[in-house]
Amino acid sequence: MTRSYDVAIIGAGSAGLSALRVVRKQTDNFVLINHGSYGTTCAHVGCMPSKALIEAANAFHQRKTLDAFGVSGAEYLTVDIPAVLGRVRRLRDGFVAGMLNLTDEVKDHNIAGRARFLEPQVLQVGDRRVHAKKIIIATGSRPVVPGDWAAFGPWMLTSDDLFEQETLPPRMAVIGMGGLGSEIAQALARLGIEITGFDTADHIAGLSDGRVNSHAVALLRAEFAMHLGQAAEPVIEGEHIRVRAGNESVVVDKVLVALGRRPNIDQMGLENLGVALDVRGVPPFDPRTMQIADLPVYIAGDANSHLPLLHEALDEGYIAGYNALRSEPACFERRVPLAIVFTDPGIAVVGHRYADLKKDEIVIGEVDFSSQGRARMAEANHGLLRVYADKSSGRLLGAEMCAPQGEHLAHLLALAVQRKLTVRELLGMPFYHPVLEEGLRTALRDAAGKLGGMDHPDLACCGRIGADAID
Ligand SMILES: Cc1cc2nc3c(=O)[nH]c(=O)nc-3n(C[C@H](O)[C@H](O)[C@H](O)COP(=O)(O)OP(=O)(O)OC[C@H]3O[C@@H](n4cnc5c(N)ncnc54)[C@H](O)[C@@H]3O)c2cc1C
Repeated sequence: MTRSYDVAIIGAGSAGLSALRVVRKQTDNFVLINHGSYGTTCAHVGCMPSKALIEAANAFHQRKTLDAFGVSGAEYLTVDIPAVLGRVRRLRDGFVAGMLNLTDEVKDHNIAGRARFLEPQVLQVGDRRVHAKKIIIATGSRPVVPGDWAAFGPWMLTSDDLFEQETLPPRMAVIGMGGLGSEIAQALARLGIEITGFDTADHIAGLSDGRVNSHAVALLRAEFAMHLGQAAEPVIEGEHIRVRAGNESVVVDKVLVALGRRPNIDQMGLENLGVALDVRGVPPFDPRTMQIADLPVYIAGDANSHLPLLHEALDEGYIAGYNALRSEPACFERRVPLAIVFTDPGIAVVGHRYADLKKDEIVIGEVDFSSQGRARMAEANHGLLRVYADKSSGRLLGAEMCAPQGEHLAHLLALAVQRKLTVRELLGMPFYHPVLEEGLRTALRDAAGKLGGMDHPDLACCGRIGADAID
């Protein structure tokens, strides 16, 4: 039996639910098809539990600076890993419950099952056939695990099962020092687990600026061992697992595989859409409309691999949902790229990446946080921030950083880049004292100096006062 709908949404994750919010305002004749657990990847195994773990790790890590503040007795503090993980799961369950409320509201429109395209407007879900005028693919992604690593069974974890552990062993390897691998490796190290990180690349956490990367690598290496530039090969050795990379070798109790994620589109019959798929199996789509070619089909969130981040999944779900109800798709401006890695100091890339810029067309402003006043007060004076500005117009193009409270500095910079502000315009904003943003001002002044032609680049025209603590 075939049932017909105005819109079918495949995937009840963040992108799918974002699409659902728009679609249900316009029509009652929709269906939400989901295979697997409900509650979204972000709430269930992604952003939320990972940050809950990181907060616990950072709270415990604070003890290492207490002496400097004149607080004694920190050596008596201990961490209870099962209690940490229990709290992560309790928080997680609350966030998931919030998401489930939304799917419960539309339970009469829900089909649990794996959807597969038979034609651009026809899906097979179990023994049902679904026809829809418009279809939104929002099936998310899953961790990449090399085929033969499945044999490592209980020795191997991914982010899908890390937060389900009752406890964690004393020694772990984290393979993959991208954003997720870097932040989780640091958190686990801060919880007292002996961590060794591995990556084939020399750059970590999505950084492309070699100077910022060197700072980030050095700061993380102060907390755990990290072997870069060589492929890691795990092998079972008795009760343990050995990870080799080039001449390095370490025996650990478990390996966390953080090699990135692949879109959940490989068993969806996308070949039946009649368009050429790229090497990852992703069909051609317009990121400003989310439409696949000129088909009545849209693809949003991690499923399209374009910008696998939560805020982008929400935007893409919205765009897809909005367009699914129109005869002609509307075109949306996308936000300035912003990627944050929740290490400490925080790693972030805003706007244009350093690697993508023509070096003879930009000036770079830089601040090293080692002598920044507010950072020194907080015993957090580590890291480097670099801003990139167009040489001819002075416009801010992007920034990369590994900086204290980097997540907040990154948002400020994203705002400036998106508003197309020049270095001078941003310097004209008020900078309170004493705040970390004064570090950003130092980088902007550095860029302004290189841009030249500005006798008074900002309102602080009396010049630098000369004390590190004030700058
Ligand atoms: C550990 C971790 C930490 C992260 N931290 C951050 C962070 O700090 N900030 C950030 O911005 N992003 C973060 N992310 C990324 C963010 O979680 C994702 O970008 C976001 O959740 C993607 O949402 P989505 O809707 O595309 O996919 P999902 O939320 O995964 O939804 C997809 C849904 O589709 C279902 N499905 C799959 N195949 C089918 C099928 N064939 N038929 C029907 N249903 C199907 C799935 O079961 C799932 O319910 C993190 C991710 C991870 C794993």
